[in-house]
This record gives sequence, structure tokens and C-alpha cells, in this order.
Amino acid sequence: MAATMSRPKLVSQIVEQAPIKDPTPGELPLFESLVYAICREDAGVNQANAAFEQLKERFFDFNEIRVSTSREIAGCFEGCSEPRTRALRLISLLQDIFEATFGFDLESMAKKGVKSAQKQLARYKSVNDFTLAWIGQQVFGEQTIPVDAGMRRCAGRLGLVEVECAKDTEETRVALEGMVSKSKVDSFVGGLQMVAQTYCHEMHPDCTHCTLTKACPESGKFSAPVPVKVAKPKASKKPR
Ligand code: SF4
Repeated sequence: MAATMSRPKLVSQIVEQAPIKDPTPGELPLFESLVYAICREDAGVNQANAAFEQLKERFFDFNEIRVSTSREIAGCFEGCSEPRTRALRLISLLQDIFEATFGFDLESMAKKGVKSAQKQLARYKSVNDFTLAWIGQQVFGEQTIPVDAGMRRCAGRLGLVEVECAKDTEETRVALEGMVSKSKVDSFVGGLQMVAQTYCHEMHPDCTHCTLTKACPESGKFSAPVPVKVAKPKASKKPR
């Protein structure tokens, strides 16, 4: 079992796991940041960027995406988890924004400030705690941390947050906000997402190859996948 590591040290190790060239598109306007957040939640930065590019390449504009089928849009999310669910979320987001503004320009909303924008956007079904924290951090420069399901799971196993706390996204976000300095948030999110998606799967985490295995108190506590027994076909009796 790994010795318990101090939280500041653990945070530093997570920051070091971030992809070396984190190409998160900087300074996207509010509307595009919302779309990007749907790509980025529970996805690696490269997967998210590829999905975001595909959306812009395959469709004429966001209105065309709004009126397309989830099946057509899901093709852009290949490589991300649950492509169809993401597509449905995106359609729902675009529909809500279109009904509220008759377009996709949210700059007047952005000018009113983070609290007002988050309050309005929180009414949309497709917008969750991750989305709100993402735009808070990326668009408004807030000291906050977008937390997705994989990050929450991994933070609990690593002992960054208590197990009970890790069951709730908002509680996990608030706890993590006190541990990570503003300048390190991007790398922390990228690093924790990388570990969560590459090794710290919900079922059968790959602790053996995990880059944080020495720092993790839960390392090796999970059972290996049970091999599926394939029954041998019975030899058929030869006709006499
Ligand atoms: S060592 Fe295992 S449980 Fe710990 S973070 Fe890595 S994959 Fe997850």
C-alpha cells in the first residue's frame, strides 16, 4: 500500500501528468465555450479538440447542427465516451439558446458578468456543474475547477477528497478549489482527466500502469477482470 502523500505534493504530481502541449483553445467566446465544454467533459483534451473541429467542419453552422439528428452529430464525437448522449446534449443546448436569443451570440450575456451568465445558463437542461465551472474558469477567469465524473472518481481514490465527498460533483469541486492555485487549474484538470481516462476506469482500473500508482492509497485494491470462460463445443457423435 502506498504511503499517504500530502495533498500539495499530490496536486503537483497531478499537474505534471497534463499533456505536454495542452491545446485547449484559449479565449473562446461564451457560446463556443459552452459547446466545447460538452466536448471536453469526460474526454481527453485531444479527443475534445478533435470533436470540436469535426463539429465545425462537418456542418455549415451551429444552426445546421441544431436541426440535425443526434445520429449525424454523434459521428463528430467518435473517440469520446457516449457520443449519442453528447449529441443529444448539444442539440438541447443549441435549441435552448436559439429559443432564448434567436441566434447563438451570447456576448451580451457575457457582458453582464459571471454570476448573471451562470444563473441564466443553469436553467438549461444540458448545462451542469462542469459546464458552469468550465465557462467560469475559461471565459470569466474565475478561481474554480470544472470536475467531471472521471475526475471525481479519481480524486476520491487518490484521497484528494473524502470518499463521501467524491460522490457529489459540487462538493468535490469546492474541495478541490481550495487545493489548486489559479495558474495551475488547466494543467490540474488535464492531468486528472488523463489519469482518470487512461488508467482509473470505473471498473478494473489499471493500477499497474497508472502513473500515479506510487502516490495512490487505493492502488492495487481492485480485482482484475474475471476472464470469461468460453465453453468448448462438445464433439458431435459420428453417425455409425
Ligand atoms: S493507482 Fe489505480 S486507483 Fe489509484 S489513481 Fe491510479 S488507476 Fe486509479
